[in-house]
Amino acid sequence: MQTNILLIYTGGTIGMVKDFDTGALRAFNFDKLLKRIPELSHLNCNINTVSFENPIDSSNMNPGYWVQIVEIIEENYEDYDGFVVLHGSDTMSYTASALSFMLENLAKPVIFTGSQLPIGDLRTDAKENLITSIEIASLKKNNKPVIREVCLYFEYKLYRANRTTKINAEHFQAFASLNYPPLAESGVHLKVNHEYLLKPTRKKLKVHKNMEANIALVKLFPGINEATISCLLLNPATEAVILESYGAGNAPTEKWFEEVLKKAVNSGKIIINVTQCSGGSVLMGQYETSSHLKKIGLINGKDITTEAAVAKLLYLLGNNIQRKVFKTIYETSLRGEMV
Ligand code: ASP
Repeated sequence: MQTNILLIYTGGTIGMVKDFDTGALRAFNFDKLLKRIPELSHLNCNINTVSFENPIDSSNMNPGYWVQIVEIIEENYEDYDGFVVLHGSDTMSYTASALSFMLENLAKPVIFTGSQLPIGDLRTDAKENLITSIEIASLKKNNKPVIREVCLYFEYKLYRANRTTKINAEHFQAFASLNYPPLAESGVHLKVNHEYLLKPTRKKLKVHKNMEANIALVKLFPGINEATISCLLLNPATEAVILESYGAGNAPTEKWFEEVLKKAVNSGKIIINVTQCSGGSVLMGQYETSSHLKKIGLINGKDITTEAAVAKLLYLLGNNIQRKVFKTIYETSLRGEMV
C-alpha cells in the first residue's frame, strides 16, 4: 500500500538559488525546484508539498514559525503517514528540538532535513537527504509507522532531533548527536536501530503552542566579569537562564560569581546548568567547582544539548509549570532528550 507523505518547505539552502546581482543565496519557489528531482516519482508513496508563503533562511527562525510548522502537521495529522520538514541547517536542531516538545504523544514520523548545497547544484547533497528522509518517513511495520518521533536526517544518518547539534558549516556531515546513537543509518541497506527508538504511545496527540518567554543563554569564558554576569542574570525581564558551564558542569568559585547566582535564584529565576562541551554530561558535585552550583539550586541539564535545553525551557515556561516542581520536571527526560 502506498503511504502519504507531506513535505513541508520552510526555506534553507536546499531550495535556494543564487541572486545574479549579489551572488548571495536566497530562498526560492520550492515547487519549481522539486521538478528537478524526477527520482521522487519512483518512490512508492504519494508526496504532497506545502511551503511557507515566504520561505526563510533559518537564521530568521523564531517560535512563531515553529507554531506555523506545528499547525501544518496538526491540520494534516490524520491524512498523512509521515511528515518531512525541509529547513535550513543553521537552526534546524533548535526547531526540531522545539517540535519534539510541542508534539506530545507523537505517533508518526516527523523528519527534518536540508542540505549544504542547493538542490539545483551539480554536487548537491540535497537529493540523498530528501529522498532518504521520505523513505524513512514511509517506513511501516504491521501497518504502523516504524519511527514515531521527531528526527533529523543528514548525510546518511538519522538522529533523534533533540539530541543533535550543527557541528560543521561546510562538511556534508553537518550534524552530530554525541550523546545518543543514530536511530538509523543509510548505506546499501537502510538499517534502523530499533532499540534506540522511542517507545510507542497510544495516547492522543497533544499540541503545545506557547513557546515564548524571556530567557537568556549565557556562555562562560575565562575573564567573564561581575558586571557582565550581573547584567545577564539579574535583568528583571529575564525569567530563566541557561548557563553554559565548563566540562562536567563546572564554574568559577569566586565569591562575586556565587553571590550573583544566589541573588538570581533567590529572586525566583530559573538557572539551568548545561555543559559547553558538545558531548558528555553535567555532573554537579563531581568537582568542587560545581558543588556550589548544586547548593545554590541550579537545575541539572545533564547531557542535554543547548538547543534542546532552550526548547525544553521555553516549552515548560509556556506550560506554566509551577516553580516547586520545575526542577524535577526539567531534570526528567520528556522526549528522550536526556538520560
Ligand atoms: N543559512 C542556511 C539556513 O540555515 C543554511 C542551510 O540551509 O543549511 O537557512
